[in-house]
Amino acid sequence: MTEPAPADRTVFRTCPLCEATCGLQIEVRDGAVKRIRGDRDDVFSSGFICPKGSTLKQLHEDPDRLRKPVVRRGVDHDGAPVFAEVSWDEAFRVVEEKLTAVRERHGAEAVGVYLGNPNVHLLGAATHTRPFLKALGSRSRFSASTVDQMPRHVASGYLYGSGVSMPVPDMDRTDLFVLLGANPFASNGSICTAPGFPDRIDAVRERGGRVVVIDPRRSRTAEAADLHLSIRPGTDAALLAAIVHHLIGTDQVSMGRVSALVEGTGELAAAVEGFTPDWAAGVTGIDADQIRSLADEIGAAKSAAVYGRIGTTTVEFGTLTTWLLDVVAILTGNLDEPGGMMFPRAATERVRPSRPGRTYRVGRWASRVSGRPEVQGELPAADMPDEMMEPGDGQLKMMFTCAGNPVLSCPDGDRMDEAFASLDAMVSVDIYLNETTRHADVILPPPSALEKSHYDIAFYGLSIRNISNFSDAVFDSDALTEEDIYAKLTLIALGMGAGSDPEIVHDQMLRELLGAETAVEGSPLAAREVDDLLAQLAEGSGSVRVVDAMLRTGPYGDQFGADPDGLSVAKLRENPHGIDLGALEPRIPAILKTVGDRIDLFAGPFLEELARLDARATEWAMDGRLRLVGRRHLRSNNSWMHNLEVLVKGKARCTLQINPADAAELGITDGIDAIVRSRVGQVVAPVEVTDSVMPGVVSLPHGWGHDMAGAKMDVARRHAGVNSNVLTDPAVVDPLSGTAALNAIPVEVVRA
Ligand code: SF4
Repeated sequence: MTEPAPADRTVFRTCPLCEATCGLQIEVRDGAVKRIRGDRDDVFSSGFICPKGSTLKQLHEDPDRLRKPVVRRGVDHDGAPVFAEVSWDEAFRVVEEKLTAVRERHGAEAVGVYLGNPNVHLLGAATHTRPFLKALGSRSRFSASTVDQMPRHVASGYLYGSGVSMPVPDMDRTDLFVLLGANPFASNGSICTAPGFPDRIDAVRERGGRVVVIDPRRSRTAEAADLHLSIRPGTDAALLAAIVHHLIGTDQVSMGRVSALVEGTGELAAAVEGFTPDWAAGVTGIDADQIRSLADEIGAAKSAAVYGRIGTTTVEFGTLTTWLLDVVAILTGNLDEPGGMMFPRAATERVRPSRPGRTYRVGRWASRVSGRPEVQGELPAADMPDEMMEPGDGQLKMMFTCAGNPVLSCPDGDRMDEAFASLDAMVSVDIYLNETTRHADVILPPPSALEKSHYDIAFYGLSIRNISNFSDAVFDSDALTEEDIYAKLTLIALGMGAGSDPEIVHDQMLRELLGAETAVEGSPLAAREVDDLLAQLAEGSGSVRVVDAMLRTGPYGDQFGADPDGLSVAKLRENPHGIDLGALEPRIPAILKTVGDRIDLFAGPFLEELARLDARATEWAMDGRLRLVGRRHLRSNNSWMHNLEVLVKGKARCTLQINPADAAELGITDGIDAIVRSRVGQVVAPVEVTDSVMPGVVSLPHGWGHDMAGAKMDVARRHAGVNSNVLTDPAVVDPLSGTAALNAIPVEVVRA
């Protein structure tokens, strides 16, 4: 038994709210959070914190946060769902009944799962959703990845042989930092874990480097840059293709160390022949000389990190754009070199003897209705409504939604809402009764972030330094944590019954993990007894023990005593401000998992994509339509943090930004309401006339639209805003990754 935590104490933990992994110093008085501020001794964030970090207190105390499972008990006289709190046992019994009934009637493929973005920030979900998905045995898996970063996985899969080998900008050492479609001053960085992003940008400039931002909006990041280039939304691929064209045409290709491994450069020159800066100028709206000058700057820089984010991935050519970013890095000798784009080495990474590389595969199965291919084991989130509503074999009749709100965050929000309402059964793992979970039969709420342990398994694999930091729960809780919820759901899905002990799943996972390690020839653990290793694991929940096993057998691990200075949860508990494992180091060729350990530029269908870009780009340049883009705000986090008054108070943020020239042409003035229409829907939003968006572009933030009956987020309802994804067209996805085009949506705007 552990001692109860003292009522007054100061604890240090990592903020789990975004990818930046900031260290927090939390003062607890009388058993409640008194204050949260940045941990000045944190080895990575050095005291940095954004306005969201301190709201872990408000999230923990939010009266709307569900503390107990709820089960739907019908609807009220207005048609809104009525839920009743039940015990965990009863909730799991209802889940079992529903799942059994749907499977018996329609088969396993009639049950789908949607995993929302927070899963990757939640330790128990990161460790335990996998066995649950396996136990469900359905290929109808969807996630926020296909409304976000899936193009990055696919480009990496083709180039490096693994969808999780993602290069990040080595921004602390770069001489030239170019950011496309990214606003880390608001989002705190993504696929680039770097707490204190603004200070790090300043540092680039202070050491004589340059920062260039390419974005249709003059974002806060753009304002802090040396140069901001306004680009027409969705045309970054055209810009990058022209940069590649110019680098090749002016003999500025210098691949350095990776040169001997790269194949396809001959084809590349021919493939980009027509993508001249003059052509790209007509598509992107950036002057041709400016494109040449940028390409020259990248080519001449001692080191350059050219990095793209959400504006480059949630577009029709997301994978092509991501691939071109890496091509630029490869051609200029910036891939896997300090100051360029590098591969982190996470402390939980699996260390395995090299195996023969394999061809990266997608399309092992396909969406039933659209025929779009599976990618990274999942189907496009844009396809969910069709899969739920179109009759036929394999139609989805039951969904699990896990920490997600696809009604607000996925394409065609109105139809998505209708689709969830049409299901026979639905189970949600979520802390809120929100716009999506209001359709559920059962909601299983994990405890607050302060009531569970934390380790960023995913984000230390995307970090600009190699870091390891573990946090224990600040408070005890009666609620089941994610690992116990998913373990129970796994056992139900396996037919072992709602009453089964989740420890069965934890034990099985640990035995598999440690068994695999002891089977590795030459490993320090070879021939050790699994039971002996299990007995040595850190005290804690199932996921804490999984992390301990991963750390101890990882690249910096203590190997269960073989390296007494190595990492373990125990060692991290002794170092509450984290452990800095050093700057990123070159990892090619060891990290390559491709056939023959080569980097084949055309391992994927990029020639075809370049041809498609050529055809489509001309259409964009000619159609003269307004294009809608999203935007981020420092006090917002997708859809789920709008119920905290401290974050949403003040001036309304869900406004339609429009350039003064467009506003004048349309007879629209600041503060009035405007109708925004796309092919699939329309919204009415208050207008904000601002020259921060370029002519031809309008912007709405995503994640809003909290005015739906039955959701129980009272603060969010008072600051409802509109759901921008009502406008997102599910017919337009990046064909290589299935990622929805949440940006560059053609719209018309008129006075309301
Ligand atoms: S930047 Fe991200 S990790 Fe840091 S305090 Fe803010 S929300 Fe938390």
